[in-house]
Formats: sequence, C-alpha cells, structure tokens
Amino acid sequence: MKPAVFEYFDPTSVSETVALLARLDEDARVLAGGQSLVPLMNFRLARPAHLVDLNRVSELDFLSVAGGELRIGAMTRQRALERSRDVGAGWPLLREAAGYIGHVQIRNRGTVGGSLAHAFPSAELPVVMVTLGAALVLRREGGERIVAAADFFLGAMTTALEPGELLSEVRVPATAARSGTSFHEVSRRYGDFALAGAAALVSLDRDGAVAGVRLTLTGSAPIRAQAAEDAMLGEKPSEALFRDAARRAVAGIEQDSDMHADAGYRRRACAALARRALLQAAQRAAASRSIRP
Ligand SMILES: Cc1cc2nc3c(=O)[nH]c(=O)nc-3n(C[C@H](O)[C@H](O)[C@H](O)COP(=O)(O)OP(=O)(O)OC[C@H]3O[C@@H](n4cnc5c(N)ncnc54)[C@H](O)[C@@H]3O)c2cc1C
Repeated sequence: MKPAVFEYFDPTSVSETVALLARLDEDARVLAGGQSLVPLMNFRLARPAHLVDLNRVSELDFLSVAGGELRIGAMTRQRALERSRDVGAGWPLLREAAGYIGHVQIRNRGTVGGSLAHAFPSAELPVVMVTLGAALVLRREGGERIVAAADFFLGAMTTALEPGELLSEVRVPATAARSGTSFHEVSRRYGDFALAGAAALVSLDRDGAVAGVRLTLTGSAPIRAQAAEDAMLGEKPSEALFRDAARRAVAGIEQDSDMHADAGYRRRACAALARRALLQAAQRAAASRSIRP
C-alpha cells in the first residue's frame, strides 16, 4: 500500500519546526525515524495531512553529559545509546534496554524521541526512562515545558504531548553511587516486541541495605511498582525479598490479552522478570563503587 496524499515539510531548525506545527492544524505529524509512522501511513492507519520531517533538524541529534545529567536530543538514533561510551558508563540501563529494540537496522533509523512519543505498549525506552526518573522537554512556539517521564505516558500510544508540541530532549539524572540497574524481557522471537518486561534500579547504603529502588513493568503504559518499592526500602537484598516484591508488583495490575499472550501470562512473566531484574540490579550495585561516568 502507499500512503494517502500529504503535504511534506523539511525544516532545518527547532524554531522553524515548532512554528510549522503551530501554523498547521492537528492533522500535522512529525516524521522521525519513520520505523512506526511510515508503516502506519502505508496501511493508511495514519493519514496525516501534513508531514514535518525532522531529519534535517541536526540540533535535535546529540548526546551529552552536563552537570552529571545525560541529555539526549530527540533525533538521537536508538543505536547511539548502545554505542555511546558515556551512556555505557553512567546509564547502562539505557544501553541494555536499547539492545532489545527490534533489530539493528531498526535501531539505526529509529530515534529515542520517536520511541517515547509513539509510546507503544511494551516498548523498552518508556519503561527505562520512567525507571531512571527522566524528564522530557516539550517545545512549542514561544515556550517549553518539562514533564517527568512518569507523567508523560498516559496509555497505549497516548502521551501528554499536545497539538503543536515537539519532544525535543530527554534529560536523565545521574544515578547515585552504589547503584545498579537491570532490564529483562521475554518475547516470542529475537527482535519482537516484548510480551513482558521489567526494569530495576537498586541503590544500596553503606551497610548493604536497600536505600532506594525503582521497579517498572511493561504494560499498555509503563507501570511503576510503588508499593513493592516501598516494601524493599531498608531491607537487605535477598532472593526472598525480591520474590515478595515481584509478587506485590504484579498484584492487581492490568495487562492486555491478545493473540500473543493473555493477561495472566503477562502478569506471571512480569513477576519472574521483576525478580530477576531486582536481583541483578542489587548484585551490580554491590559490585560497583560508583557508576558515574
Ligand atoms: C520490525 C520492527 C520491530 C520493532 N521492534 C520494536 C521493539 O522491540 N521495541 C520498540 O520499542 N520498538 C520497536 N519498533 C519500533 C521502533 O522502535 C521505532 O523506531 C519507534 O517506535 C518509533 O521511532 P521512530 O524514530 O521511527 O519514529 P516515527 O516512526 O518517525 O514516529 C513515531 C510517532 O512518534 C511521533 N514523533 C516522533 N518523533 C517525535 C518528536 N520528537 N516529537 C513529537 N512526536 C514525535 C511521530 O509523529 C509518530 O506519531 C519496531 C519497529 C519495526 C519496524
């Protein structure tokens, strides 16, 4: 199939882009890596009247560390997360999770901003951005607002982005010393979207007890397991602690049923993956003196 007719724009700056988005109506869509939008357009599930291509907006393509914070331009390719030395040293969870996105050809084109804005259920980057406490910069003509990743994902393919807004940057805070992270997922074949996944960040105090923990599960939108997190604080890491936390994490959560897996399977898989992720994150925390770059 071929896409429906659309008007094409190729701005070269963020200011030009947000001016275009302000002028065009709600039928305008931005094109990033095209790995999700182009198939949707070809199947005519998306029929934007105006397509604003971000691929010549080079100021959106950067990875930098400032004041201990990682800054990722929205047009940074997913593959860059895997290859960056800074990311590997300071935010290994991003590299670990990015490696699960589709295949390398998809990650070469797909962007960080595109994955977050698309907000597909079970996508890896939304889950890890919530776990890492990232903040998303949303630009519009004449201003910007900063939204916590935890508040950005509202549901399946639904985000806090409003018409006329562009996701321009993601800011990921430094992780505390004696922290470890881990991501696990299960899919039917290598490169498929996850049936279930879990990301964990565990920080230990000087005595080896849990000083801070974040656990996020895949779902139609990322699911932060707050009650399970609270129950782990101050406790010494152990298989039993993490098994109990994983059980709490999936208690009562909603999961989808579809032709690939039912909700019960997804809940059980999330529990198993959460336990593994917590255990591995705690082991990595114990082994690290500091994970700052
Ligand atoms: C075979 C295959 C397997 C895949 N497997 C996985 C997988 O396992 N895990 C996974 O997470 N993804 C997977 N993907 C999707 C891939 O990660 C996409 O790259 C991603 O979903 C969208 O990124 P993109 O840059 O291609 O965005 P595009 O497809 O260009 O855009 C996607 C949507 O986001 C909007 N958008 C893009 N950038 C911005 C921005 N800066 N501001 C506001 N809105 C924006 C667009 O308007 C569009 O609505 C797969 C894709 C394919 C084709």
